[in-house]
Amino acid sequence: MISLEPRSVLVIRTHAPEETERVGERLGALLQAGDVICLSGRLGAGKTCLTRGLARGWGAVERPTSPTFTLINEYQRSQDSQRFYHMDGYRLSGAVEAQTTGVEDVLDAPGVLVVEWPERIEEALPAERLWIDIRDEGGDDRLLIIQGTGKRPAELVEALRSSG
Ligand code: ADP
Ligand code: MG
Repeated sequence: MISLEPRSVLVIRTHAPEETERVGERLGALLQAGDVICLSGRLGAGKTCLTRGLARGWGAVERPTSPTFTLINEYQRSQDSQRFYHMDGYRLSGAVEAQTTGVEDVLDAPGVLVVEWPERIEEALPAERLWIDIRDEGGDDRLLIIQGTGKRPAELVEALRSSG
């Protein structure tokens, strides 16, 4: 039985894309294989921007681009054989379709998984995950509502809080 407790929430306001990327970088440095990060928010909210920071903090050699046409992009780092998977559920319409895209393979692989438009494939994602809702507050202001559900995701939120 998966425990959905504890839950931990952190809210961060950013005022520029670089600032959102830096939040991602701080979090990315804390990520371990098995971590799942869901990024929700409207088109242009900053999901890919945050992903670039996550990838950099994790140690990716390459800078992520939007995986809209490839569905899942895979990045490497030099220190080990772990992978950083970046998935975009934008064009998907449910768990059945998600299964045909390889999300299950990626969840089994040694790596971290970052998902844009996670609500489109929510049933295919684990209940224990970090969920970041990005709200466009007008101009360059964004509100990042970061919620960890389960032991490891809640620990991640607390580690991020202390890393500021
Ligand atoms: P998404 O992946 O959610 O569709 P992107 O990350 O591709 O969004 O684009 C976000 C857009 O919003 C970029 O053009 C970026 O420059 C702009 N932007 C302005 N302010 C911010 C901010 N505080 N954080 C993130 N992006 C911002
Ligand atoms: Mg995007």
